Amino acid sequence: MTTRLDRLRRRLDALRVDAVLVSDPSDVRYFTGFRGDDATLVVGHGAALLCADSRYWEQVHEEVRDAELSKVTSEPLLAHSVREAARVLGAGARLGYQGAQLSHASWRRLRRIHDGPLRDVRQSVTRLRAVKDDAEIAVMKRAAAVTDEALSLVVGRGLVGRRERDVAWDLQVEYHRLGAEGEAFGAIVAAGDHGAQAHALPGERVISAGELVVIDTGARVDGYCSDITRTFAAGEPSDELRRIYEVVLAAQLAGLAAVRAGADGRTDIDAAARAVIDEAGHGALFGHGTGHGVGLEVHEAPSLGRVRGDRLETGMVCTVEPGIYVDGLVGVRIEDTVLVTPGGCERLTTSPKELQVIG
Ligand code: ZN
Ligand code: ZN
Repeated sequence: MTTRLDRLRRRLDALRVDAVLVSDPSDVRYFTGFRGDDATLVVGHGAALLCADSRYWEQVHEEVRDAELSKVTSEPLLAHSVREAARVLGAGARLGYQGAQLSHASWRRLRRIHDGPLRDVRQSVTRLRAVKDDAEIAVMKRAAAVTDEALSLVVGRGLVGRRERDVAWDLQVEYHRLGAEGEAFGAIVAAGDHGAQAHALPGERVISAGELVVIDTGARVDGYCSDITRTFAAGEPSDELRRIYEVVLAAQLAGLAAVRAGADGRTDIDAAARAVIDEAGHGALFGHGTGHGVGLEVHEAPSLGRVRGDRLETGMVCTVEPGIYVDGLVGVRIEDTVLVTPGGCERLTTSPKELQVIG
């Protein structure tokens, strides 16, 4: 954990701040081990101070490493944290804050109570989480293995005649039974034309024979997420649906083949997957980016989209998930979570990808 804080400290000068108020809960967890969701970490060159109130006071003693603890009593967390930063660094210190985490009202309060310069450090602290260490990779492999196993068990019980929401619930039950903390995000189970909504909510709809079913799900293990999508055939699909499936599969394999350290998320990976769908004449039906980083949050750096892409580094974990969505007919998406390696990638989710016809 010291190394993580040191990496942040080494960024302070480039960010032109003396300290950062870290308020993103996943970042606080990453740097200190604290698993609660309402604390502020003040990190300066000589300081690491975790501010939390009585609700978490026992927990911070159990979980927090490498940071001094400061109990919030009579004032709001933000005011307390700013006062503590001033005590440690001096009243006029240049303070960085995470603008994406602060409401406008909190930001105005921050301006009122802090005497020195303020700077929005944007995603620069959060992005320190993008490259995973060996311990994180081991946990993410477990999360992916649990996800693969749960998906196989749940789909193995059949799809035709089940409601989407019952399949989604079954996944949660399996995650619990397999020892995960729970879902990394609410599962998508979307049959037939419902699958054309990329982020469909599972509903009362009963899956019927001949439909494709998109299932997008992931388990959370020790805080870390997994993310997989498979599209299954509930009973024998039409040739048209099979053709669409094969295009998405080819696109996903092309995207995966482009993943390696040094590759660009936009011009290499997204472009490789998108080219296959474009060539098949379905370019307009693939409306989202090809992938995203995964870690303590299911969507984090790096980006692998057509608008924004980051350069991949060894140890990053990301998804590759192209799709085709035809309104009123079908959605097909295939997604894996992979670990970026120097020469390619290692798939963490390993469920089969040839079209599985499930009764
Ligand atoms: Zn997903
Ligand atoms: Zn995803």
